[in-house]
Formats: sequence, structure tokens, C-alpha cells
Amino acid sequence: MSGPILPGATLGVMGGGQLGRMFIHAAQRMGYFTAVLDPDPASPAGRVSHHHIQAGYLDAPGLGQLAETCDAITTEFENVPSSALARLAVYTTVSPAASAVAIAQDRAAEKAHFVRCGVPCAPYAVIDTPEQLAAVDETLLPGILKTTRLGYDGKGQARVADRAALAAAWADMHSVPCVLEKMLPLEAECSVIVARGADGQMVHLPPQRNLHRDGILAVTEVYEENMPLPLMEQAVAAAKSIANELQYVGVLCVEFFVLQDGSLVVNEIAPRPHNSGHASMDCCDVSQFELQVRTLTGLPLVQPRQHSPAIMLNLLGDLWFVRSEQAATPPWADVLALPGAHLHLYGKASANKGRKMGHLTLTGPTASAVRATALQAAALLGIEAF
Ligand code: ATP
Ligand code: MG
Repeated sequence: MSGPILPGATLGVMGGGQLGRMFIHAAQRMGYFTAVLDPDPASPAGRVSHHHIQAGYLDAPGLGQLAETCDAITTEFENVPSSALARLAVYTTVSPAASAVAIAQDRAAEKAHFVRCGVPCAPYAVIDTPEQLAAVDETLLPGILKTTRLGYDGKGQARVADRAALAAAWADMHSVPCVLEKMLPLEAECSVIVARGADGQMVHLPPQRNLHRDGILAVTEVYEENMPLPLMEQAVAAAKSIANELQYVGVLCVEFFVLQDGSLVVNEIAPRPHNSGHASMDCCDVSQFELQVRTLTGLPLVQPRQHSPAIMLNLLGDLWFVRSEQAATPPWADVLALPGAHLHLYGKASANKGRKMGHLTLTGPTASAVRATALQAAALLGIEAF
């Protein structure tokens, strides 16, 4: 094997959203040149990258230009067609691999992978045909019907109480391939981010406790008192086994449910850094984006160390409309007067409801101190207390 791809080389990313932007920031800080492929001329990552190739994800000339420009390429957007990644991999280093991304893009393949790893997931059935719909086991109801592909932030999902509701929901989804998951009694949600190198070495970020509102991540809390230690250890071990079994290279987020009986169930994986890992930029000595750079380039992976308890608040476009019908800038100066407040805005031109505009991380000396400032920030911004 050849050595690592060192600073001075050019790193590319498929997708120009906020995750790409934060990857670009990490790569540039370390002395790499960067390229983004995204059709949107105003994409958050395109705006800060040395090169921005404005082309679709399957555009052959665009992909050719990206491959020519870059020494290694990663992805920030999980619905980048895996065939595009496979094509790029013919010419240059690509991680994660198209095969791993393809599994994460398909809820049925993803769940089959969890079963292979011996990590429990919610009981489920695949629904591709009317026969499979009719044969659904009664014990899966009430449940959640999820489209197999292209779901995010709770989109492409319907909660169904009984068979009639299930049939209606599937028809509403135009009978596309779906999985039906049993509705589980959740006590909490958490996630673990692991980074795995081409040599199989793995490190992880501290487990994060996540609060979702309306299917969108709202608050992430990262500190030891967050969850029972054995549960955290179990989540890290499960995440590592999922990454290992995939022979995964890159940063992988594994989302879990904690059930009311205290057991841990895997929900889904994302083949990239994740919204729930953003606090790592401010509370750990190595962030999830630096881990992405290191796994992509083959640089050493060093176990990150958390130096401060942290809470992350997602800043959705809704916050621009708290005070008036017209979009109004939230009170950033007041928020930044709080100790340990770190503001990250993604450079999106217009605030729409539900759109992820940025996030705010609060760090502090103790969990209770950071909770107090996070609640103050939430009050200033019009975010519901948690
Ligand atoms: P993401 O933005 O994380 O990609 P998604 O659209 O893929 O979200 P899921 O993570 O599958 O959606 O589900 C969104 C949320 O709905 C979960 O975080 C959880 O709160 C709830 N949920 C999903 N599946 C179940 C289940 N089987 N039982 C109970 N709650 C569930
Ligand atoms: Mg999810």
C-alpha cells in the first residue's frame, strides 16, 4: 500500500450541503485544496471550496472533472447515486465505498446488515408487493411505514395503527418499496460516530443523546452523565461491529433507540458525518470532519478526547420567524454573550421553515452548567425547552 495522501493534495466531496462545507473547512485547515461537485451555484460547500464543479451527480463530464482534480473523494450526501461513487473509484481513491453507501441508502439492505451483525433492530417486514402487504404480521402494528429509499428528517414515513391505515399509507406512497417497522416504546435516542481506516483501525466519538422534534434532530447532548455507562459501551461496540462487517472506510454514524426496558436497538446508519456529531467540533480535540479527512487520506486515526461537556441546538429556519411573519435575523449577539457559545451558520441564502440553517454548540465546565446556558440560548432563540 502507498502512504497517506498528504496536505497539499486536493480532496473532493460529492454534495455541497452543510456537511460538505464543514468537511471543506476541516480539509483546508489542514492544508488541503478542495473541490465540490454540486449542481447548485449557491451551495454551502461550493461557496467555500477552491473548486466548485456545478454539475449533477450523474453528469459524466462533471464526474470526470472531479476525478481529474482530486487525489481522493468522499461524499456528504447519502443519496449521491452509489453508481457515481463506483465510477469515480475507477480513477481515484473514494471512501466510503459505493457498496457501503448503497446499503445505507436502502432500509431493507441496511436492516439485513444489522441482522448479519447480530445487532438488534426493530422488528420489520419488507413491503414490495401487495402479497407482502397482505402477509404482514399483526405483531408489527401499530408501526411506522418507511420508504426503503430517499427518506430523511422523517420524510417518507407514516405512522399506521392498523391494517387499513397501513394499506392506505402504502397507496399514498404510490406503492413504492417500503419497510414496516414495529412502533417501539422509546425512552431515548442516541448515536455513535465511528471512523474506520483502510487498515481496519477504528476510533469513535463519545455517544450522543438526541432529541428529535417532528422527525428532525433538535437537540444533542454530549456528556458522561447523559446515559448509563454500560449502555454507552454497548452502543459503541455495536457501531464498531456494524462498521467492521461492512469493511467500512470513512466516518459512519449509527443511530439507536433506547427502549423503556433499557435495551438498545439500532435504528439506521448514515455513511458520513452526522448532524448529531456536530458538537465534536467544539467539545472534542478531533472533530467528525477531521476524522473524515484522516480516513479519506489514510492519515493516522487517534482516539478523540472530549474536553468539555456540550449541548448542540439545531438552528432551523423557523427561528427566523419567531418574532414576525417576515424573516428576521435571530439575536446572535445576545446568544454569543453566553459563555461557551459557538455559532455555526451554513451560509444558506434564505431561511425556510424546517431548513437546517446552522447549529449552536454550548460548551461548559460541567453538564449542569452547559445545560443552564443551553436553556438560556434556547429561550433567547425561541426554541422550546428540553
Ligand atoms: P434522519 O433524518 O435521521 O435520516 P429518517 O427520516 O431517516 O431520519 P428515522 O430515523 O427512521 O427517519 O425516524 C425518525 C424518527 O422517528 C426517529 O428518530 C424516531 O424518533 C422515530 N421513529 C422511527 N422509527 C421508529 C420506531 N420503529 N419506533 C418508534 N419511533 C420511531
Ligand atoms: Mg434517523
